Amino acid sequence: FAPWTDPSAVHLIRYRNVTKRFGSFTAVDDLSLDIYEREFFALLGPSGCGKTTLMRMLAGFEEPTSGQITLAGEDLVGTPPYRRPVNMMFQSYALFPHMSVWDNIAFGLKQDGMGKPDIAVRVEEMLRLVKLEAFARRKPHQLSGGQRQRVALARSLAKRPKVLLLDEPLGALDKKLREETQFELMDIQMKLGMTFLIVTHDQEEAMTVADRIAVMDHGKLIQVAPPAVIYEQPASRYVAGFVGDVNLMAGRVESNQNGLVTVRTGSGGDSAGMRLAVAQEVQTGAGDEVWVAVRPEKVRVDREPPADTNVNCVSGEVWDIGYLGDLSVYHIELADGTRVKAVRPNLTRMVERPITWEDKVWVSWTPDAGVVLTR
Ligand code: ATP
Repeated sequence: FAPWTDPSAVHLIRYRNVTKRFGSFTAVDDLSLDIYEREFFALLGPSGCGKTTLMRMLAGFEEPTSGQITLAGEDLVGTPPYRRPVNMMFQSYALFPHMSVWDNIAFGLKQDGMGKPDIAVRVEEMLRLVKLEAFARRKPHQLSGGQRQRVALARSLAKRPKVLLLDEPLGALDKKLREETQFELMDIQMKLGMTFLIVTHDQEEAMTVADRIAVMDHGKLIQVAPPAVIYEQPASRYVAGFVGDVNLMAGRVESNQNGLVTVRTGSGGDSAGMRLAVAQEVQTGAGDEVWVAVRPEKVRVDREPPADTNVNCVSGEVWDIGYLGDLSVYHIELADGTRVKAVRPNLTRMVERPITWEDKVWVSWTPDAGVVLTR
Protein backbone atom coordinates (compact mmCIF):
# COMPACT_ATOMS: atom_id res chain seq x y z
CA PHE A 1 0.00 0.00 0.00
CA ALA A 2 1.82 3.12 -1.24
CA PRO A 3 -0.63 6.01 -1.81
CA TRP A 4 2.22 8.56 -1.84
CA THR A 5 3.27 7.14 -5.22
CA ASP A 6 -0.25 7.71 -6.63
CA PRO A 7 -0.97 11.33 -7.67
CA SER A 8 -4.73 10.74 -7.36
CA ALA A 9 -4.54 9.45 -3.76
CA VAL A 10 -6.62 11.43 -1.25
CA HIS A 11 -5.21 13.22 1.76
CA LEU A 12 -7.47 12.54 4.69
CA ILE A 13 -5.60 14.48 7.36
CA ARG A 14 -3.71 17.70 6.73
CA TYR A 15 -1.69 19.65 9.27
CA ARG A 16 -0.77 23.09 7.92
CA ASN A 17 1.88 25.15 9.74
CA VAL A 18 0.66 23.88 13.09
CA THR A 19 2.31 25.26 16.21
CA LYS A 20 1.42 24.35 19.79
CA ARG A 21 2.86 26.26 22.71
CA PHE A 22 2.45 25.54 26.39
CA GLY A 23 3.39 28.89 27.94
CA SER A 24 6.76 29.76 26.47
CA PHE A 25 7.50 26.12 25.55
CA THR A 26 6.95 25.08 21.93
CA ALA A 27 5.81 21.44 21.79
CA VAL A 28 4.94 21.43 18.06
CA ASP A 29 6.82 23.85 15.84
CA ASP A 30 5.30 25.11 12.55
CA LEU A 31 4.66 21.58 11.36
CA SER A 32 2.97 20.53 8.11
CA LEU A 33 2.04 16.92 7.37
CA ASP A 34 -0.37 15.04 5.09
CA ILE A 35 -1.72 11.58 5.91
CA TYR A 36 -3.55 9.55 3.27
CA GLU A 37 -6.86 7.79 3.45
CA ARG A 38 -6.37 4.10 4.47
CA GLU A 39 -2.81 4.71 5.55
CA PHE A 40 -1.26 3.20 8.68
CA PHE A 41 0.88 6.11 9.82
CA ALA A 42 3.32 6.16 12.74
CA LEU A 43 4.62 9.15 14.70
CA LEU A 44 7.98 8.13 16.12
CA GLY A 45 10.32 10.02 18.38
CA PRO A 46 11.85 10.21 21.84
CA SER A 47 9.87 11.20 24.91
CA GLY A 48 8.87 14.86 24.79
CA CYS A 49 9.31 15.38 21.03
CA GLY A 50 5.67 16.42 20.65
CA LYS A 51 4.16 13.35 19.00
CA THR A 52 1.32 12.89 21.50
CA THR A 53 0.50 16.60 21.33
CA LEU A 54 0.31 16.34 17.54
CA MET A 55 -2.15 13.45 17.87
CA ARG A 56 -4.20 15.06 20.64
CA MET A 57 -4.75 18.11 18.43
CA LEU A 58 -6.36 15.85 15.83
CA ALA A 59 -8.62 14.32 18.49
CA GLY A 60 -9.50 17.79 19.80
CA PHE A 61 -8.05 17.35 23.30
CA GLU A 62 -5.69 20.23 22.53
CA GLU A 63 -6.17 23.17 20.17
CA PRO A 64 -3.22 24.45 18.12
CA THR A 65 -1.79 27.84 19.05
CA SER A 66 -1.71 28.57 15.31
CA GLY A 67 -2.12 26.71 12.04
CA GLN A 68 -4.81 24.57 10.46
CA ILE A 69 -5.85 20.93 10.78
CA THR A 70 -8.32 19.50 8.28
CA LEU A 71 -9.94 16.08 8.05
CA ALA A 72 -11.51 15.15 4.71
CA GLY A 73 -11.28 18.82 3.74
CA GLU A 74 -13.10 20.08 6.86
CA ASP A 75 -11.41 22.47 9.23
CA LEU A 76 -11.30 20.80 12.65
CA VAL A 77 -10.03 23.66 14.77
CA GLY A 78 -12.74 24.64 17.23
CA THR A 79 -14.78 21.42 16.75
CA PRO A 80 -15.23 19.64 20.10
CA PRO A 81 -13.72 16.14 20.40
CA TYR A 82 -17.05 14.25 20.43
CA ARG A 83 -18.08 15.83 17.11
CA ARG A 84 -14.90 14.74 15.32
CA PRO A 85 -14.98 11.48 13.29
CA VAL A 86 -11.89 10.39 15.20
CA ASN A 87 -11.49 7.93 18.03
CA MET A 88 -8.54 7.48 20.33
CA MET A 89 -7.43 4.28 22.02
CA PHE A 90 -5.23 4.71 25.06
CA GLN A 91 -2.53 2.56 26.61
CA SER A 92 -4.59 2.27 29.79
CA TYR A 93 -7.59 0.55 28.25
CA ALA A 94 -10.19 2.32 30.38
CA LEU A 95 -12.86 -0.37 30.02
CA PHE A 96 -15.92 -0.16 32.29
CA PRO A 97 -15.13 -2.81 34.92
CA HIS A 98 -18.75 -3.60 35.85
CA MET A 99 -19.88 -4.09 32.23
CA SER A 100 -19.53 -7.20 30.08
CA VAL A 101 -17.39 -7.21 26.98
CA TRP A 102 -20.57 -6.96 24.91
CA ASP A 103 -21.84 -3.92 26.83
CA ASN A 104 -18.44 -2.24 26.74
CA ILE A 105 -18.44 -2.45 22.95
CA ALA A 106 -22.10 -1.39 22.68
CA PHE A 107 -21.74 1.58 25.06
CA GLY A 108 -20.89 4.31 22.54
CA LEU A 109 -23.48 3.06 20.07
CA LYS A 110 -26.24 3.23 22.70
CA GLN A 111 -25.16 6.74 23.61
CA ASP A 112 -25.47 7.71 19.97
CA GLY A 113 -29.04 6.42 19.97
CA MET A 114 -28.50 3.55 17.57
CA GLY A 115 -31.40 1.06 17.47
CA LYS A 116 -31.07 -2.25 19.35
CA PRO A 117 -31.01 -4.57 16.31
CA ASP A 118 -28.34 -2.45 14.63
CA ILE A 119 -26.28 -2.40 17.81
CA ALA A 120 -26.45 -6.19 18.02
CA VAL A 121 -25.24 -6.57 14.44
CA ARG A 122 -22.39 -4.11 14.96
CA VAL A 123 -21.23 -5.59 18.27
CA GLU A 124 -21.21 -9.11 16.79
CA GLU A 125 -19.20 -7.80 13.84
CA MET A 126 -16.68 -6.18 16.19
CA LEU A 127 -16.40 -9.31 18.34
CA ARG A 128 -15.63 -11.34 15.21
CA LEU A 129 -13.09 -8.77 14.08
CA VAL A 130 -11.09 -9.03 17.29
CA LYS A 131 -11.78 -12.78 17.68
CA LEU A 132 -13.58 -12.48 21.00
CA GLU A 133 -16.97 -14.01 20.10
CA ALA A 134 -16.60 -16.54 22.91
CA PHE A 135 -15.91 -13.84 25.53
CA ALA A 136 -18.90 -11.54 25.05
CA ARG A 137 -20.37 -12.22 28.51
CA ARG A 138 -17.16 -11.89 30.48
CA LYS A 139 -16.23 -8.88 32.58
CA PRO A 140 -12.88 -7.15 31.97
CA HIS A 141 -11.29 -8.66 35.11
CA GLN A 142 -11.94 -12.15 33.65
CA LEU A 143 -9.78 -11.38 30.61
CA SER A 144 -6.06 -11.40 29.95
CA GLY A 145 -4.24 -8.15 29.21
CA GLY A 146 -4.18 -8.95 25.52
CA GLN A 147 -7.91 -9.70 25.45
CA ARG A 148 -8.73 -6.47 27.30
CA GLN A 149 -6.64 -4.70 24.70
CA ARG A 150 -8.78 -6.20 21.95
CA VAL A 151 -12.01 -5.20 23.68
CA ALA A 152 -10.70 -1.64 23.84
CA LEU A 153 -9.89 -1.83 20.15
CA ALA A 154 -13.35 -3.18 19.31
CA ARG A 155 -14.94 -0.41 21.36
CA SER A 156 -12.87 2.25 19.60
CA LEU A 157 -13.83 0.88 16.20
CA ALA A 158 -17.53 0.23 16.86
CA LYS A 159 -18.62 3.75 15.86
CA ARG A 160 -16.64 3.43 12.63
CA PRO A 161 -14.55 6.56 13.00
CA LYS A 162 -12.70 7.85 9.92
CA VAL A 163 -9.47 7.73 11.88
CA LEU A 164 -8.34 5.59 14.77
CA LEU A 165 -5.67 7.14 16.98
CA LEU A 166 -3.48 4.73 18.91
CA ASP A 167 -1.44 6.28 21.72
CA GLU A 168 1.29 3.79 22.66
CA PRO A 169 -1.45 1.14 22.53
CA LEU A 170 0.73 -1.90 23.17
CA GLY A 171 3.02 -0.48 25.85
CA ALA A 172 1.50 -2.62 28.61
CA LEU A 173 1.86 -5.94 26.76
CA ASP A 174 4.87 -8.26 26.97
CA LYS A 175 7.15 -8.52 23.96
CA LYS A 176 5.65 -11.63 22.41
CA LEU A 177 2.05 -10.52 22.78
CA ARG A 178 2.97 -7.06 21.54
CA GLU A 179 4.41 -8.55 18.34
CA GLU A 180 1.32 -10.70 17.79
CA THR A 181 -0.97 -7.76 18.42
CA GLN A 182 0.96 -5.62 15.95
CA PHE A 183 0.12 -8.09 13.19
CA GLU A 184 -3.51 -8.24 14.32
CA LEU A 185 -3.71 -4.46 14.20
CA MET A 186 -2.33 -4.45 10.65
CA ASP A 187 -4.80 -7.13 9.63
CA ILE A 188 -7.76 -5.26 11.15
CA GLN A 189 -6.68 -1.96 9.62
CA MET A 190 -6.47 -3.57 6.20
CA LYS A 191 -9.85 -5.35 6.54
CA LEU A 192 -11.60 -2.12 7.58
CA GLY A 193 -9.73 0.06 5.08
CA MET A 194 -9.43 2.73 7.78
CA THR A 195 -6.76 5.29 8.54
CA PHE A 196 -4.73 4.43 11.65
CA LEU A 197 -2.40 6.90 13.31
CA ILE A 198 -0.12 5.42 15.96
CA VAL A 199 2.16 7.22 18.41
CA THR A 200 5.11 5.18 19.61
CA HIS A 201 8.65 5.57 20.85
CA ASP A 202 9.35 1.94 19.85
CA GLN A 203 11.08 2.00 16.49
CA GLU A 204 10.52 -1.70 15.84
CA GLU A 205 6.80 -1.25 16.38
CA ALA A 206 6.68 1.68 13.96
CA MET A 207 8.71 -0.25 11.37
CA THR A 208 6.44 -3.29 11.67
CA VAL A 209 3.01 -1.73 11.44
CA ALA A 210 3.35 1.49 9.48
CA ASP A 211 3.05 2.27 5.79
CA ARG A 212 4.92 5.51 6.55
CA ILE A 213 6.75 6.83 9.56
CA ALA A 214 7.31 10.43 10.64
CA VAL A 215 10.42 10.79 12.79
CA MET A 216 10.07 13.80 15.12
CA ASP A 217 12.50 15.79 17.20
CA HIS A 218 11.81 18.92 19.25
CA GLY A 219 8.39 19.52 17.72
CA LYS A 220 9.58 19.20 14.12
CA LEU A 221 9.43 16.49 11.49
CA ILE A 222 12.90 15.25 10.61
CA GLN A 223 11.91 12.67 7.98
CA VAL A 224 8.64 11.28 6.65
CA ALA A 225 9.01 8.08 4.60
CA PRO A 226 8.18 4.38 4.38
CA PRO A 227 10.05 2.21 6.94
CA ALA A 228 12.60 0.84 4.46
CA VAL A 229 13.55 4.34 3.32
CA ILE A 230 13.88 5.55 6.92
CA TYR A 231 16.17 2.61 7.64
CA GLU A 232 18.21 2.44 4.42
CA GLN A 233 18.33 6.14 3.52
CA PRO A 234 18.07 8.07 6.78
CA ALA A 235 18.02 11.84 6.31
CA SER A 236 20.41 12.55 9.17
CA ARG A 237 22.54 11.05 11.92
CA TYR A 238 19.62 11.59 14.28
CA VAL A 239 17.31 9.37 12.20
CA ALA A 240 20.04 6.79 11.52
CA GLY A 241 20.73 6.49 15.24
CA PHE A 242 17.11 6.51 16.34
CA VAL A 243 15.97 3.75 13.97
CA GLY A 244 18.12 0.64 14.39
CA ASP A 245 21.78 0.31 15.16
CA VAL A 246 24.41 2.06 13.05
CA ASN A 247 28.15 2.56 12.65
CA LEU A 248 28.86 6.25 12.09
CA MET A 249 32.26 7.36 10.81
CA ALA A 250 33.08 11.06 10.51
CA GLY A 251 35.25 12.30 7.68
CA ARG A 252 35.70 14.62 4.72
CA VAL A 253 34.69 14.12 1.13
CA GLU A 254 37.65 13.50 -1.19
CA SER A 255 35.64 13.21 -4.37
CA ASN A 256 32.09 12.81 -5.58
CA GLN A 257 31.81 11.63 -9.17
CA ASN A 258 29.41 9.46 -11.18
CA GLY A 259 27.52 8.33 -8.12
CA LEU A 260 30.60 7.30 -6.17
CA VAL A 261 31.62 9.29 -3.10
CA THR A 262 35.00 8.74 -1.46
CA VAL A 263 35.42 9.88 2.12
CA ARG A 264 38.62 10.11 4.18
CA THR A 265 37.81 9.37 7.82
CA GLY A 266 39.40 10.91 10.87
CA SER A 267 40.56 14.48 11.44
CA GLY A 268 44.28 14.00 10.76
CA GLY A 269 46.24 14.85 7.62
CA ASP A 270 45.70 13.38 4.17
CA SER A 271 47.34 10.07 4.98
CA ALA A 272 45.42 9.49 8.22
CA GLY A 273 42.18 7.55 8.56
CA MET A 274 40.53 5.20 6.13
CA ARG A 275 39.32 5.86 2.61
CA LEU A 276 35.69 4.79 2.32
CA ALA A 277 33.72 4.40 -0.90
CA VAL A 278 29.96 4.90 -1.00
CA ALA A 279 27.83 4.37 -4.09
CA GLN A 280 25.23 7.11 -3.73
CA GLU A 281 23.84 10.17 -5.52
CA VAL A 282 24.25 12.91 -2.92
CA GLN A 283 24.80 16.68 -2.99
CA THR A 284 28.22 17.13 -1.47
CA GLY A 285 31.67 18.18 -2.67
CA ALA A 286 35.36 17.74 -1.92
CA GLY A 287 36.29 18.99 1.55
CA ASP A 288 32.79 18.79 3.02
CA GLU A 289 32.42 17.33 6.49
CA VAL A 290 30.20 14.22 6.33
CA TRP A 291 29.44 10.97 8.11
CA VAL A 292 29.38 7.51 6.60
CA ALA A 293 26.68 5.33 8.12
CA VAL A 294 26.83 1.54 7.82
CA ARG A 295 24.33 -0.82 9.42
CA PRO A 296 25.99 -3.61 11.46
CA GLU A 297 24.35 -6.40 9.45
CA LYS A 298 25.99 -5.04 6.30
CA VAL A 299 29.50 -5.40 7.71
CA ARG A 300 31.24 -8.59 6.66
CA VAL A 301 33.84 -10.20 8.95
CA ASP A 302 36.59 -12.53 7.64
CA ARG A 303 39.62 -14.17 9.23
CA GLU A 304 41.77 -13.52 6.15
CA PRO A 305 41.81 -10.48 3.86
CA PRO A 306 38.89 -11.17 1.50
CA ALA A 307 40.16 -12.18 -1.95
CA ASP A 308 37.25 -10.65 -3.85
CA THR A 309 37.39 -7.05 -2.66
CA ASN A 310 39.68 -4.34 -1.35
CA VAL A 311 37.20 -1.45 -0.99
CA ASN A 312 36.02 -0.53 2.51
CA CYS A 313 38.24 -3.31 3.76
CA VAL A 314 40.24 -2.88 6.98
CA SER A 315 41.92 -5.06 9.55
CA GLY A 316 40.93 -5.02 13.19
CA GLU A 317 40.64 -7.00 16.37
CA VAL A 318 37.59 -8.50 18.05
CA TRP A 319 37.22 -7.03 21.55
CA ASP A 320 33.72 -8.24 22.39
CA ILE A 321 31.04 -10.62 21.15
CA GLY A 322 27.39 -10.57 22.11
CA TYR A 323 25.63 -13.90 21.53
CA LEU A 324 21.90 -13.47 20.80
CA GLY A 325 21.07 -17.00 19.63
CA ASP A 326 19.94 -16.16 16.12
CA LEU A 327 22.66 -13.53 15.72
CA SER A 328 26.05 -12.66 17.12
CA VAL A 329 27.19 -9.06 17.52
CA TYR A 330 30.92 -8.52 16.99
CA HIS A 331 32.59 -5.39 18.34
CA ILE A 332 35.76 -4.83 16.37
CA GLU A 333 38.48 -2.24 16.87
CA LEU A 334 40.09 -1.14 13.61
CA ALA A 335 43.76 -0.27 13.20
CA ASP A 336 43.08 3.48 13.59
CA GLY A 337 41.10 2.97 16.81
CA THR A 338 37.64 3.24 15.23
CA ARG A 339 35.19 0.74 16.70
CA VAL A 340 32.66 -0.92 14.46
CA LYS A 341 29.85 -3.32 15.14
CA ALA A 342 29.06 -6.26 12.87
CA VAL A 343 26.00 -8.47 13.19
CA ARG A 344 26.19 -11.96 11.71
CA PRO A 345 23.45 -14.61 11.61
CA ASN A 346 24.37 -17.89 13.31
CA LEU A 347 23.48 -20.14 10.42
CA THR A 348 24.64 -23.50 11.74
CA ARG A 349 24.35 -25.35 15.05
CA MET A 350 27.57 -24.22 16.61
CA VAL A 351 28.47 -23.74 20.25
CA GLU A 352 31.96 -22.33 19.70
CA ARG A 353 32.05 -19.23 17.49
CA PRO A 354 34.54 -19.57 14.61
CA ILE A 355 35.67 -16.02 15.33
CA THR A 356 36.37 -15.21 18.93
CA TRP A 357 37.77 -12.61 21.35
CA GLU A 358 41.08 -10.98 20.38
CA ASP A 359 41.06 -12.60 16.94
CA LYS A 360 42.59 -10.55 14.16
CA VAL A 361 39.92 -10.11 11.51
CA TRP A 362 39.10 -8.17 8.36
CA VAL A 363 35.95 -6.16 8.10
CA SER A 364 34.54 -4.98 4.81
CA TRP A 365 31.34 -3.72 3.25
CA THR A 366 30.26 -3.02 -0.29
CA PRO A 367 30.01 0.57 -1.60
CA ASP A 368 26.20 0.27 -1.76
CA ALA A 369 26.01 -0.74 1.93
CA GLY A 370 26.98 2.66 3.31
CA VAL A 371 25.16 6.01 3.26
CA VAL A 372 26.76 9.46 3.23
CA LEU A 373 25.03 11.81 5.69
CA THR A 374 25.62 15.54 5.48
CA ARG A 375 23.93 16.44 8.77
P1 ATP B 1 5.99 10.90 25.45
O1 ATP B 1 6.43 9.78 24.57
O2 ATP B 1 6.79 11.00 26.71
O3 ATP B 1 4.51 10.95 25.67
P2 ATP B 1 5.72 12.94 23.43
O4 ATP B 1 6.69 13.00 22.32
O5 ATP B 1 4.41 12.33 23.14
O6 ATP B 1 6.39 12.26 24.68
P3 ATP B 1 4.24 15.27 24.23
O7 ATP B 1 3.39 14.56 25.20
O8 ATP B 1 3.64 15.66 22.93
O9 ATP B 1 5.57 14.42 23.94
O10 ATP B 1 4.86 16.54 24.92
C1 ATP B 1 5.74 17.40 24.26
C2 ATP B 1 6.23 18.43 25.25
O11 ATP B 1 5.17 19.31 25.62
C3 ATP B 1 6.77 17.85 26.54
O12 ATP B 1 7.94 18.54 26.90
C4 ATP B 1 5.66 18.08 27.54
O13 ATP B 1 6.19 18.27 28.83
C5 ATP B 1 5.00 19.34 27.02
N1 ATP B 1 3.57 19.34 27.33
C6 ATP B 1 2.64 18.48 26.89
N2 ATP B 1 1.42 18.79 27.37
C7 ATP B 1 1.56 19.87 28.16
C8 ATP B 1 0.67 20.68 28.94
N3 ATP B 1 -0.64 20.42 28.98
N4 ATP B 1 1.21 21.71 29.62
C9 ATP B 1 2.52 21.99 29.55
N5 ATP B 1 3.42 21.28 28.83
C10 ATP B 1 2.96 20.24 28.13
